Amino acid sequence: MEKIKNYINGELVEPAGKTYIDNIDPSRGKVYSLIPDSDERDVLEATAAAKAAFKGWSNTPKETRSRILQKISFLIEENLESLAIAESIDNGKPLHLSRSVDIPRAAANFNFYATGILHYAAPAHSMEDTAINYTLRQPVGVAGCISPWNLPLYLFTWKIAPALASGCTVVAKPSEVTPMTAYLLSQLCIKAGLPKGVLNIVHGLGPKVGNAIVSHKDIPLISFTGGTKTGAHIASVAAPMFKKLSLELGGKNPNIIFADCDYDKMLSTTMLSSFANQGQICLCGSRIFVEKSIYEKFKNDFVEKTKKLSIGAPLQDGTKIGAVVSKSHMEKILSYVELAQQEGGKVLCGGKRKVLDGEFAEGYYIEPTIIEGLKYDCRTNQEEIFGPVVTIMPFEKEEEVLMMANSTIYGLASTVWTQDITKAHRVANEIHAGIVWINCWLLRDLRTPFGGVKSSGVGREGGFEAFDFFTEPKNICIKLK
Ligand code: NAD
Repeated sequence: MEKIKNYINGELVEPAGKTYIDNIDPSRGKVYSLIPDSDERDVLEATAAAKAAFKGWSNTPKETRSRILQKISFLIEENLESLAIAESIDNGKPLHLSRSVDIPRAAANFNFYATGILHYAAPAHSMEDTAINYTLRQPVGVAGCISPWNLPLYLFTWKIAPALASGCTVVAKPSEVTPMTAYLLSQLCIKAGLPKGVLNIVHGLGPKVGNAIVSHKDIPLISFTGGTKTGAHIASVAAPMFKKLSLELGGKNPNIIFADCDYDKMLSTTMLSSFANQGQICLCGSRIFVEKSIYEKFKNDFVEKTKKLSIGAPLQDGTKIGAVVSKSHMEKILSYVELAQQEGGKVLCGGKRKVLDGEFAEGYYIEPTIIEGLKYDCRTNQEEIFGPVVTIMPFEKEEEVLMMANSTIYGLASTVWTQDITKAHRVANEIHAGIVWINCWLLRDLRTPFGGVKSSGVGREGGFEAFDFFTEPKNICIKLK
């Protein structure tokens, strides 16, 4: 069975403790490879390597850094098919999604930041003939990057690429649930000639490896994407050490549909925003608010289309709904369907585990589920489920839907469907969320800031703001007389 290795100081190495954790293929419910069960010793070694590499990497001309990172981007593109297959096996997502979204976006992340750094400038301020101030942006040092399992390579590279482009060196931990593409990336980094110690990838469990990264005194910056509870724990460890922190956390995103929307476009996009990646995208719209006059029509059409979604093995052609990521996650999602029913909800379709034939019979498949009849403030509508489960609710007035949309502790993303541009802007202005999509979903220009408000996180990633995060400003003032 394949053993994944850590990537420390430019080499693929076994964990210090020589112990491994099972890596499960969720489409079959079977172990298919082994992940290093690393511990603090591995993190200490990785951090020492990153610290030693920092001076050389941060003083490497940005043109050279850029060329190496672009080479990594090309190698990801060159290996798109094998990376996409690896991602789908590790995560359970349909292959077409890994092929068209996850892996191309990982290549784009490297390319965007490799080229962006060439144009990143710092300001100068003149105090007439008295003094000149200029601001240096210096890389912070060793960056700790911790990522989740839902978009494994996409989110891993979204942190690593701007950190490396900025001149930081990195100690990174991918999710232990989906480690494979990060391992393949380490092989591509070696091929691209990334100097040793610049990027170090330590595999293993959050409370062991993640915690050792967050609490290491020589890692002054943490970029984390994952659950809100984990984010709160990380903040409690990192804040007293005065670390720079970026936390991208959970969501419970509203999808607001007005009667005057372009109905067909809305319906086809709502299928995606509800169930893409089995609803395991932090930006999925899990609470769907529909204006009363079109509620019944929407309900019937949405249920009919959802029933037709083909649930299947991730690598099988035509699969629209693959496996959810793990057995425990499947059980959590199904427990929310039960809770919804206890809270008075009616399951309009789905709601159960789907058992496939043959070798996939033990896989973790859930039927896409639509629930109605719940109050906006019940637990099902307030807590993140992170699976193929959405609720639908009618509304009559704009103020009413805004109140319901804004009623959760989260504020990551939202979607608004209307052809009335004034209403679209007015509603977008009032929604508590870091992102509002009007008549679309999941469109991203990498130059724009990304992140949530309230319990969905602090700090912004994306665009040149990521360079601001991975560098520290130093103001230099020269007196002219
Ligand atoms: P998680 O919080 O369980 O794990 C995320 C990462 O943190 C993993 O690598 C894990 O090993 C690590 N970790 C766990 N405990 C840790 C600790 N004590 N110290 C340091 N690291 C620790 O999240 P998950 O289940 O992997 O991912 C799903 C969550 O991520 C959902 O809540 C989802 O909304 C969120 N998410 C948010 C965004 C965003 O951009 N806001 C994007 C994707 C996913």
